[in-house]
Amino acid sequence: MSTTTALECKNLGFIGIGAMGRPMVENLAHKLPTDAQIHIFDVLEQAVIELCAQYPKRILKATSARDVTEKSSIVLTMLPESPHVRTVYLDPTDGISSHPPLFTPSSPKLLIDSSTIDTATHLSIKQHLTTTLPPSSFTFYDAPVSGGVPGAINSTIAFFLGCAATDPNLPLLTTLTSLMGKQIIPCGGASLGLAAKLSNNYLSGVIAIACSEAMNMGMRAGIDPRVLADVYAAGTAQNAICDRFNPVPGVREGSPANHGYRGGFRVQLMKKDFGLAVQMAERVGAKLVLGEAGLKTYEGASGDERCEGLDSRVVYRYLGGEEEWEGKIGE
Ligand code: NAD
Repeated sequence: MSTTTALECKNLGFIGIGAMGRPMVENLAHKLPTDAQIHIFDVLEQAVIELCAQYPKRILKATSARDVTEKSSIVLTMLPESPHVRTVYLDPTDGISSHPPLFTPSSPKLLIDSSTIDTATHLSIKQHLTTTLPPSSFTFYDAPVSGGVPGAINSTIAFFLGCAATDPNLPLLTTLTSLMGKQIIPCGGASLGLAAKLSNNYLSGVIAIACSEAMNMGMRAGIDPRVLADVYAAGTAQNAICDRFNPVPGVREGSPANHGYRGGFRVQLMKKDFGLAVQMAERVGAKLVLGEAGLKTYEGASGDERCEGLDSRVVYRYLGGEEEWEGKIGE
């Protein structure tokens, strides 16, 4: 099966014009066919007004999620947490599904949620849509992303799609998401994009803590952190956090640690995703030995004023790691 297909959609909707949503919409504005329009909505009206002013006639202001749905055959959502997603899809007055006659089997709508939320909420929204809207009038997918704000700006984010590799909509989903991202991975079925994203962030979060602890102990024993990073890279501990996002300042080029942990993936988002992953593990009966300790660590770092709002690898600072090591260690 071909992995791409022509994108014939002339009216696309996007709800949630925040840190991720805004650059994703801008990429769509640059890359969609010239006759396509994007209808956008956010509860923060200013974000909508600014973006519409930047792309007149291409990006148009909508007044609610329902208004976006009325005007669009494909609707993407990029919202903070489960309650926001629930409101946008299910609010009986203004939600996407609030007016079932907008949905017809003759021109089914594609609904795609890229927010990182829990799998149970996604499945319950899907169930609700299935019971409220006419049969065959829509398809609803989870499509969370990884790669952060820089990835959203440079269209290098990865999309984890909640569908099978044989899904008939996969070519269209791939074409659409490729305008905003680089790697598009179908994860097997409904809510499995989210399950993949949460397990990925659990792993990445645990590695960041382990890397911070290991660097801290090695440095306290007297080893230069650059040597430590080379040792891990050469040995069985090799990992992307150590190589590309090393939590110790001045060890690896491009790491947020080098500029006061600014940029990167906010520790508050890691706390949220880590908590969702722990919940999912509990729901599916997967035993975790590091879950509770990891969650406590990210909760602590999120509430610590030295770490708040910074890249999640600031966990090294939270654990008491030496940041001003140059001239003190390994020379
Ligand atoms: P954000 O808070 O910057 O943006 C979310 C937007 O949704 C805001 O503008 C907010 O006003 C809007 N919103 C909230 N409720 C709404 C409603 N009822 N109707 C319309 N708009 C509403 O968040 P973000 O950083 O863009 O993240 C969005 C999602 O992507 C989250 O689930 C996050 O976990 C995930 N994510 C974020 C990053 C990142 O680095 N920021 C990376 C990967 C995934």
